[in-house]
Amino acid sequence: MKRYFRMAGLCILMILGCSACGQAQIENIQSIDTAMGTVVRQSVYLTDTAFAESEEAQSQATSSVLSDITQILQNLEEQVLSWRMETSQVAAINASAGNPQGIALSGEMADILLACNQVAEDSNGALDITIGEVVRLWDIDAWASYENSTVQDTSTYVLPQESEIAEALAKSGYEKLVWNKQGEQETGDSAYVLTLPDEVQIDLGAVGKGIALDSIHAYLQECPQVCGAVISVGGSVLTYGSKNGDGAESNPWKVGIVNPLNTEENIGYLTLEGQWCVSTSGDYERYVEVDGKRYHHIIDPSTGMPADSGVRSVTILTKDGLESDALSTACFILGVEEGMELAEKYGAQALFIDANGEITMSEGMEQYFHLY
Ligand code: ADP
Ligand code: MG
Repeated sequence: MKRYFRMAGLCILMILGCSACGQAQIENIQSIDTAMGTVVRQSVYLTDTAFAESEEAQSQATSSVLSDITQILQNLEEQVLSWRMETSQVAAINASAGNPQGIALSGEMADILLACNQVAEDSNGALDITIGEVVRLWDIDAWASYENSTVQDTSTYVLPQESEIAEALAKSGYEKLVWNKQGEQETGDSAYVLTLPDEVQIDLGAVGKGIALDSIHAYLQECPQVCGAVISVGGSVLTYGSKNGDGAESNPWKVGIVNPLNTEENIGYLTLEGQWCVSTSGDYERYVEVDGKRYHHIIDPSTGMPADSGVRSVTILTKDGLESDALSTACFILGVEEGMELAEKYGAQALFIDANGEITMSEGMEQYFHLY
């Protein structure tokens, strides 16, 4: 059986079929779509409680999970994360730069920024979401993304000059943010007012996909018809529940790890049971090449240049999406030794691949990782 649904935007959706497992009938639905400027792959397993009497009602029940998730991502971008869209909270925060009154944060945004601040402190500023002006200067968002496999002419790209980088760096620094706690609040609003000095701009590109995983996870928990799912948002993957609805360990999720030296292939994969977040930061995800040299999208805030720690990719495995994404970016910048310490501090598992293709992983990662 094969059915196609139309959803907003580019979407290929197939129902792959039903499988009987004990008494329960499980249906697997999949889609590939784009949201938040990246490719979103969804594979959702529904239990027979989702199957309504009529075919039409069944179609609706199955397709709505996929479209709900796409909608969650669109809302997140438009209302919370995007620095480009005026409708977002990040845009409002950036517009407040230089206003001594500061801006009152939503509870959601306060949680995000405080978590980023903590990783910034713990990584000695390797992760720094106030790096917006430097990211703009490099024009990273205009670069072709490997995930979107967009061919882009970068022959006219002009590298930023040292003086421009120094100027942009002077407008960055997480310690420049001024936090004011104004007593506890019982509404959805937070008690925090944040003040940004003039020209400081925040950029949540390093954590956006991880935040998306957390939102999807919260949504899935409210969907009794979903027994399992694996959702990837660019280089970040959420695994949830199980394929057969009984939490059985016989059929774990497999999450491929791209070989950063040859992105056409996976170097290995993780086998995971239940809920996990896997984030990978690599120098192949978004970059330009100028005079044969690659300039990628992960900036070392201590230099304003693409990080050069000898690492080609870092994969972080943890339960929390924001944390996995924040740590993968920070660990890429810190390199193997310091990165491993940081991951350990968060109880996260880490896997580093260096320029020679050599793999270094935390002890706990060994039980999940399989080399091809
Ligand atoms: P991806 O988004 O491809 O998964 P990352 O999660 O590593 O990659 O995030 C990289 C993005 O984060 C960049 O595109 C940029 O917007 C932003 N960024 C780059 N360097 C830093 C940094 N040191 N700290 C915080 N954000 C950064
Ligand atoms: Mg990241």
